Amino acid sequence: MIVMKFGGTSVGSGESILRVREIVRARASRRPVVVVSAHSGITDALLRVARAAPQGDPDVGAIAARHRAILGELELPTDLLDPMLAELGDLARGMRLVGEASPRAVDMLLSFGERCAARTVAACFRQGGLPATAIDAWDAGLRTDSDFGRAKPLPDDGRIRSCIEQVEGVPVVTGFVAKDAAGNITTLGRNGSDYSAALFGEALDAEEIQVWKDVDGVRTADPRLVPDARPIRTMSFDEASELAYYGGRVLHPATILPAMEKAIPVRVLDTTHPEAEGTVILPTYDEEGAHVRAVVHKRNVRLVTLVSPRMLAQHGFLAQVFAMAANHRVDVDLVATSEVSITMSAEQSPSLEGFARDLAAVGKVEVMDDQAMVCVVGHGIASTRGVAADVLATLAQAEIRVRAISQGAIKVNIALIVGAADVERAVQVLHARFFD
Ligand code: ADP
Ligand code: ASP
Ligand code: MG
Repeated sequence: MIVMKFGGTSVGSGESILRVREIVRARASRRPVVVVSAHSGITDALLRVARAAPQGDPDVGAIAARHRAILGELELPTDLLDPMLAELGDLARGMRLVGEASPRAVDMLLSFGERCAARTVAACFRQGGLPATAIDAWDAGLRTDSDFGRAKPLPDDGRIRSCIEQVEGVPVVTGFVAKDAAGNITTLGRNGSDYSAALFGEALDAEEIQVWKDVDGVRTADPRLVPDARPIRTMSFDEASELAYYGGRVLHPATILPAMEKAIPVRVLDTTHPEAEGTVILPTYDEEGAHVRAVVHKRNVRLVTLVSPRMLAQHGFLAQVFAMAANHRVDVDLVATSEVSITMSAEQSPSLEGFARDLAAVGKVEVMDDQAMVCVVGHGIASTRGVAADVLATLAQAEIRVRAISQGAIKVNIALIVGAADVERAVQVLHARFFD
């Protein structure tokens, strides 16, 4: 059995869905379980509806039209999704009436993207003579906690396998969504369909988890910043999780975890070039020595510095700081400490403000907005002489100021904070230094 996940762009038009059908058909003997995202742009559009609904302007007309247009391109009945789209309209109106978009209601609203896409894709498969059934992730056994917007999966008790085994034809499962124990719809966080695919792969003991995108594998940098970035053929789970975590989009950071549990290879493949090799992510990576594998970046970062004389020779001070972060559910990405100060970076979010307020009780807090993180990823580089010096010299030469730096003793990255205005150039000069 293999799990094949198709992202938003891969199911973004009738034409691309037809390509997906042929890709799946060609692998039918490997018993594929398909996981799909919403059509590209739909989750963003649904989020805009959620934001507008309490103010009284929840127009789902454009979303409905896009779904009908794709059905039309596929020569499927354009009213196929009408019951579902009507439900979506009712929900948006309901949110307007109560003047509220609670996290629970927002997750329910967002789920319509994947639910519609799965039905369209399955109908297209059937029309092309490939038996398939659309199935919502909760009917396929996926359960999470009730942390709406970033729900965490509950351990699978064998339910997923028994649900999937009963499906007729190719199961086309909704990515990104699940239900909690009380039956509320939840979502796994933006880009969460990759994670869904890995969770199904783990539960089904898949021989491989394939993540199909609009790019020919993981590259040495984001191709939007570095157009000639090269595809990476093999990566270790370690490298891939660092890259996903610090590099944002190409893989959801949690994707690797379920695959690691069962040592299932993850392959990143290109829907527009199905024959291309892509990237395979394996438990271990057997090349000797240190290699810079990629230069990745993350925008919308804020730097919080706490200066406190109380840190001096006091046990448990850092524990206290991180307990505050945990309280506000702030994920700290990078940490640099001295005896009297600690600098932390985290993604910009409202919860970060609460964290900074709490910190002010124990010292002087300085917050710097509009920062970005750049991370050089590669096995063994952090402990290799000269790589950090090279990184800093390259940035200095380009007159890019580094605001904070962190390097582990063993792990696989060197991470730096630069101003948001410098991030593109920082990635480009570092990429040129290590790959040209
Ligand atoms: P999907 O939603 O289809 O699963 P995403 O759009 O989330 O795919 O991720 C693919 C995109 O990630 C690519 O189009 C590319 O622009 C971007 N990207 C960012 N960093 C990288 C990288 N290092 N390698 C490849 N693609 C990257
Ligand atoms: N549709 C969701 C999103 O846009 C999940 C995904 O595409 O992976 O975030
Ligand atoms: Mg994605």
